[in-house]
Amino acid sequence: MPVPRTNSPPTTPAQADVVEMKGRVALATRMLAREGIVGSSGHVSMRIAGTNRVLVGPADVTRNNITADDVVTVDLNSKQLEGKRRQPDETEIHTGIYRARPDVMSVVHTHPTYSVVFSITKNPILPVHMHGAIFADGVPVFDSVGHVNTKELGDGLARALGNRRAVLLKMHGAAIVGVSLEEAFVAAIQLEENAQQQLLAEASGTGKIEPMTPEDVARCLKQSWTPFSIQKRWQYYLDKQAAASKT
Ligand SMILES: [Zn+2]
Repeated sequence: MPVPRTNSPPTTPAQADVVEMKGRVALATRMLAREGIVGSSGHVSMRIAGTNRVLVGPADVTRNNITADDVVTVDLNSKQLEGKRRQPDETEIHTGIYRARPDVMSVVHTHPTYSVVFSITKNPILPVHMHGAIFADGVPVFDSVGHVNTKELGDGLARALGNRRAVLLKMHGAAIVGVSLEEAFVAAIQLEENAQQQLLAEASGTGKIEPMTPEDVARCLKQSWTPFSIQKRWQYYLDKQAAASKT
């Protein structure tokens, strides 16, 4: 599903807003680590609108502990511009996609257990859960095993993604995109939920899987992929994180 394009031209955020964005990159990373979708590796990034700069989580901080101060700034050629930490070895996952997709404002790189199975078996991920409707036009597999750590690999990953919402990295992970960090975060969760549901359905052996029809997909997108529903799910994980940090 192509990410909807915004009509208004991007405005470059003020420095205070960039600090706030770093806080959200860090928070989203900690929340994905809590969900087990990001582990010892994996990262979240945001494009700074109106610039060729990207904020991305660092290589060298445990994902559950990342703070705004740890987030680094790189340019679209993956050169680190700022930050006390080291940029990820796989910065190209992010910059490769940002170079190819001007509509994308956030990229999430995860290591999702269930979704990655589909990069091993080559069985396609199907929309089998209503929240999986956003992946109805397919989740391609980038057919290269190992780190995406060169410009050539970053460009190749972006080509595999095309105009879709997510791409699997063979035997490795996934990259999920959005027009906002919240959208990319929620989509990353939904990719893994849908994959888990599909694997359970297949493993149950109780019947043939019949994925959603195009009409089902259109209805589910209308009902469950709205700014309200994305914000509601984002808030659920915010509250979950806040509750956990109180204990
Ligand atoms: Zn990775």
